[in-house]
Amino acid sequence: MAFAPLGEFFPEVADRETRSVTVPAGLDLPIPPGDYAFMEMYCNERRCDCRRVLLYVIRRGRDGPQAVITWGWEDVGFYQNWLKHGTRSDTIRMKGPALNPGSAFTKLAPYLLEFVRDVLLTDSDYVERIKRHYRMVRQKVDQPRLLPRSRRPIKPRKRKPKKRP
Ligand SMILES: [Zn+2]
Repeated sequence: MAFAPLGEFFPEVADRETRSVTVPAGLDLPIPPGDYAFMEMYCNERRCDCRRVLLYVIRRGRDGPQAVITWGWEDVGFYQNWLKHGTRSDTIRMKGPALNPGSAFTKLAPYLLEFVRDVLLTDSDYVERIKRHYRMVRQKVDQPRLLPRSRRPIKPRKRKPKKRP
């Protein structure tokens, strides 16, 4: 499955509803001062209902994510169905919150993961927002008629014979 940023589907919602955090200077924190955005990525495969988000933690002024965090809100059993041949620890990692296996990360990643787990995901409004965004994306992916023309899968078009009077 492939993940695409929320902003690809709903740019305005992504602008308005992407969580960001400013770490002020002068605090003795493991995370250096700066602006951090938690960019949400959702699966864009049709008829896939994997119920996960990937959070790309972006630090303003830096290229690439500082960490990529995977999180699924259902119980472990739900994800076990997805990883039919995975071990239980694979499944637990898939559900997360955890650093996404295979994604690039920096030395800040463990602290950012802690922040996501202990601050963002304990905020029920934030959790509901993620689930709402997920449903919005699912609906758009599964009903390409609702997509802007440029993003619809290409279908061969039948040419209608021209009617002549
Ligand atoms: Zn999926």
